[in-house]
Amino acid sequence: MHDQTIIVHLHATSPTAACPQCGTAGSRVHSRYQRTIADVAFGGRNLVLKLLVRKWICSEVSCSRHMFAERFPEVVQRYARMTDRLIKALQSAGVITNGADAAQLAESFGVPTTPKTIIRRVLQLPLPSEGEVAKVGIDEWAWKKGQCYGTILVDLEKRRIVQLLAERSVETSQAWLRTHPEIDLVSRDRGKLFREAATLGAPQAKQVVDRFHLQKNFAEALEKFFRKQERLLKKATRGSTGKARPAERVAVPEKVSQERRARHRQRVSLHKQIWKLYRKGYHKEQIAQIVGVSSRSVYRTLEQEAPPPPRRRSRSSSIVDPYLSYLATRWNQGCHNVARLYEEIVTQGYTGSRRTLEMRLRPFRPQGARPVSKQTVILDKPPSPRGVALMMVKPAQNRTRGQTAYLEQLVQSDSTSAVVFTLAQDFGRLLRKHEGQVRLEQWKAAVQASGIAELIAFVDGLADDAEAVANGCSERWSNGMVEGFITKVKWIKRSSYGQAGFPLLQRRVLLHRAHPFAGPESVKLA
Ligand SMILES: [Zn+2]
Repeated sequence: MHDQTIIVHLHATSPTAACPQCGTAGSRVHSRYQRTIADVAFGGRNLVLKLLVRKWICSEVSCSRHMFAERFPEVVQRYARMTDRLIKALQSAGVITNGADAAQLAESFGVPTTPKTIIRRVLQLPLPSEGEVAKVGIDEWAWKKGQCYGTILVDLEKRRIVQLLAERSVETSQAWLRTHPEIDLVSRDRGKLFREAATLGAPQAKQVVDRFHLQKNFAEALEKFFRKQERLLKKATRGSTGKARPAERVAVPEKVSQERRARHRQRVSLHKQIWKLYRKGYHKEQIAQIVGVSSRSVYRTLEQEAPPPPRRRSRSSSIVDPYLSYLATRWNQGCHNVARLYEEIVTQGYTGSRRTLEMRLRPFRPQGARPVSKQTVILDKPPSPRGVALMMVKPAQNRTRGQTAYLEQLVQSDSTSAVVFTLAQDFGRLLRKHEGQVRLEQWKAAVQASGIAELIAFVDGLADDAEAVANGCSERWSNGMVEGFITKVKWIKRSSYGQAGFPLLQRRVLLHRAHPFAGPESVKLA
């Protein structure tokens, strides 16, 4: 197959070669033999090197090695059938993607190989050195959700995964922490396991309860509180957007559903593009720039590998809803005439009454000259207790206009909700701005004084781990970054299809951050 293979004959031109045993230059060539070595493809064709190797006789009489073959360090190792650079290329491909994809990739570059070979090559890679780590974030990752967990350790300062452990246990985490006596801070969740591991394995380190988990637990407490306030949540909805109506389900006009499908296709294509770049090894920030979305939406997209399903219109409880975006546009163009808008949407298939339309347009009015955003009109159905909890813990600038209006209404209509809201805002600020232990104590006292059982239960729950919680309110370190890395592990795990188990996953996770094409350090193939 000479049309697909390029054969290059090579031989060394150096007048002599040094004996690997004694270092003396060999003086006499004894014989020659040929090695066949695969190299990185050339011009899309397989490149095969026919390397003529000289066997030398050592000129040092006392040397135990009478004969030796000349070597080609940094080109090809002894007995290897591939050049170093080809091995590096295969290893890089195998680190970036799974064996099957890497083999296919190699093939497309003119290097025939198999998934097995790729995986074997990756497994030969040494693990990168852990280096020194001062601030460590520890958390679990799922081998099999709900059944089998491992541990991830992240260097919070250098923003990298330091180690991946196959197990999640006090013993393994503790043992690992012991090998790093330089650690001075451990960021962890509120679970017993990592707490115990940190206490035993890194007694010198400050422990910090991760803000992310604290905020999450607090939102759960809020949710519990609002679950009992259903009537109140409904009342606030009426106040902020007019009368709440029972759902009138109607067929969606063809034009509208076409638009919806188009929007869904767009979302799916964006999702695919983001995943594709991520698989190629781009950082999330880079992806955000390339695709032109916020890095937050990149993070959100990467949480789920399956493309998004068509959006369920849970909020479209009104017969008017399919026309809202049209109405908002017309409104912003200056048409505030209900009769006219009514006629316009009737021609598009609207079957409701003019009165219903008028009601639905009511929240548009207070906007005055300001343009109407979609959010203004969304809050028609009362939000869920969880929705209200999340609205409350958000910083004000992250709320939509509709959410702000809703919370204002809720707080005005009920004094307990007003207290809850203030406490939620204070806690969020405390965590975001690291306001420290004194503020935390004041806040806890305010919660106790409020008499709100669900929030008091949350505060009481903190007592057990008080010091680390206080540190969580003072230190700027938290596990937000660790969550991102767990997503990365999840993705690599899925893309490996369980090949070769933990050692392969570990290498792919730890070596992935190396520049993809610089190639991880190759091992000597003796
Ligand atoms: Zn020798």
